[in-house]
This record gives sequence, C-alpha cells and structure tokens, in this order.
Amino acid sequence: MYNATAYSAASATSPLAPTTIARREPTERDVQIEILYCGICHSDVHHVRDEWKDTMPTVYPIVPGHEIVGRVTKVGSAVSQYKTGDLVGVGCLVDSDLSCSACQDDLEQLCPNQTLTFNAPDKHLGGVTYGGYSESIVVDEHFVLRLPDTLDLAGVAPLLCAGITTYSPIRRWGDITGKKVGVVGLGGLGHMGVKFAKAFGADVVVFTTSPGKKDAARALGADDVVVSRNADEMEKHAGSLDFILDTVSAPHDINVYLNLLRHDGNLTLVGAGEKPLEVSPFSLLFGRRTLSGSIIGGIAETQEMLDFCGTHNITADVEVIPIQKVNAAYERMLKSDVKYRFSIDMASLKSE
Ligand SMILES: [Zn+2]
Ligand SMILES: [Zn+2]
Repeated sequence: MYNATAYSAASATSPLAPTTIARREPTERDVQIEILYCGICHSDVHHVRDEWKDTMPTVYPIVPGHEIVGRVTKVGSAVSQYKTGDLVGVGCLVDSDLSCSACQDDLEQLCPNQTLTFNAPDKHLGGVTYGGYSESIVVDEHFVLRLPDTLDLAGVAPLLCAGITTYSPIRRWGDITGKKVGVVGLGGLGHMGVKFAKAFGADVVVFTTSPGKKDAARALGADDVVVSRNADEMEKHAGSLDFILDTVSAPHDINVYLNLLRHDGNLTLVGAGEKPLEVSPFSLLFGRRTLSGSIIGGIAETQEMLDFCGTHNITADVEVIPIQKVNAAYERMLKSDVKYRFSIDMASLKSE
C-alpha cells in the first residue's frame, strides 16, 4: 500500500476536505494512474450527502469522482494494453466478474458483481473504493480506457460518465442519421446528448423549461428548441419524434413527451429521479411506443465513444476549478449554475 492525497467527506453534512487515503500497490493486472482531471457528476453529490441511502448507503469517509483522466505512472507485469506515460481514463466501474452473461456481452455496467469506482466494497484492501478526487488511482487494466491525445483533457473527463451515459442509448436505438431526436434537459447529460445526436446526423430538438437556454442549445447544434411549458410549441412536434433522450431527474410529466413520439418511437430515461413516474398506458398503446432506461455503458462501448469523440472533436463544455472550490461547485451545480460540467484540475491537490 501507499498513501495518496485526496478530498473526502466525513459525514453527510461535512464539506469535502483534504485527507490521505491508502491505495494498493499495482498487482500484475493493474495500471497506476496519476489523475490530471476529474469531472463532477451529480451522483457525487448524492453519494456525499447520502441521498441514495435506501439503495446505496454511503460509507464514510467517502472520496467521490468517476470521471477520471490521467497519465499512466506504473503497470503490472501482465498488463499488455498500456505503458507508462499513456493518457487514460477511468469511468464508473473498476471491476466486474468478467464471466456472467452481461460481461460476456461486453455489458459490464449490468454485471451483478461489478465494483463501482467509489463507495463500493474494495476487494483488494477491504473497506470501500475511493474515487477520482485524488492524486492517483490503481485500476485493473480491463477497466482502463485509452484517450485520444488530440482533445482538451479537462473536457474529456466528463465523457467517462456523462458522455457514455448519453452515447450508449443513442447507439442502442440504431441509426439516427436523418431521424428526429429529442433531448429533454440541457445540463451535463443533455448537452452531451445534443452533441452526439448532431454528430450522428440527427435533426435535434431540445426541450427545456428555461427560455434563457434557447441560444445556448442552438450553439450546441440543436435544430429547434422548445420551451416545454409552452403548449403551442410542444404541440408543433406531436407524434413526430423517432427517439427522445430524457436527461431530467427532477419530477416531470413523462406522458407529455411520450405523446411527441411517432409510432414505434422510444423514450429512454437516463436521469435518475428518486420519485416514481406516472405513465398513462394510452401514451404507450397509441403508437406502440416504448419507454426504456439506460445506465452508462460497457467498457468496449466506452472506448468506442472516446474514439468517436477523437474523430469528431467532441468534448464536454467545462468550467475548470481547483479542488479547493469543490464545495462551492456542488452548490452551483445544484442551481444549474454551470455550463455544463465542472472539471477539477488535480494539479491543485499538490498544494494541500
Ligand atoms: Zn456520474
Ligand atoms: Zn459480470
């Protein structure tokens, strides 16, 4: 074991503060990574404040962060894909059994024996895993991603969660070239959904509750922007969309969006709302529509997404902050006061 500087929270009501954590020495299958940037995801806040205690209770101290980019500093003797100096990423997963039917289908995100990057039982050291708000991390080679070296690394970090969360359902839907695709919500997830849908050649309609976001949505590539509270604007699109990516976690009427789908259209939820949604059967019956959910993506698909971003010059729009501003950043994110993701410059951790 060795010591690494990190930021952790000691309880659900404590701010994140500097600390020292133990990391394992790399085993033969491991890659040791110096972390350069870590994105701030909404789930970091939920876990730090123990807001998902019914399903995933937080073990304190917690070190969040699962949008990690960095540089390889050491590799184990059996590591074949990476070498010292490589630019790499780590997302929401650091382990799975690699043997179940999900893993065999390259769907590690659905494995019942997966290990999340933070706040999950740590098979190596005991206790729980510690995430990316840290100077380094040690990860099994299978869960390490290769990064394009042409992109801004601060903007690459959010691709590891927000990016794959939106890329995967779009890919799963099929070829959206020339199709009409809706993106509901324009935050960390939604802005990535717009970029991917445009890059795949879709006609993209953004739905937002904020009239003030119209110009920003168009700047990201949206072909049309609808203020969802305006019934006339919504009616214009009734029965016309092929696919809708719903990124909103706040309570909202899902039927309004289902009714915008044409026949056999699909709405996929990626926002993790806590309250059950009311779905009218008629919204699904008429038009034979479907409602689905999706969560991140498998490792192979995450690599495909990163390669796609390299080819198409796609990154998240980020505001880079030093880690000392992380608590203030949480408050701002909860007020949607960021375009569209915070990315922590981990060099700032060296001054702790
Ligand atoms: Zn996330
Ligand atoms: Zn598995």
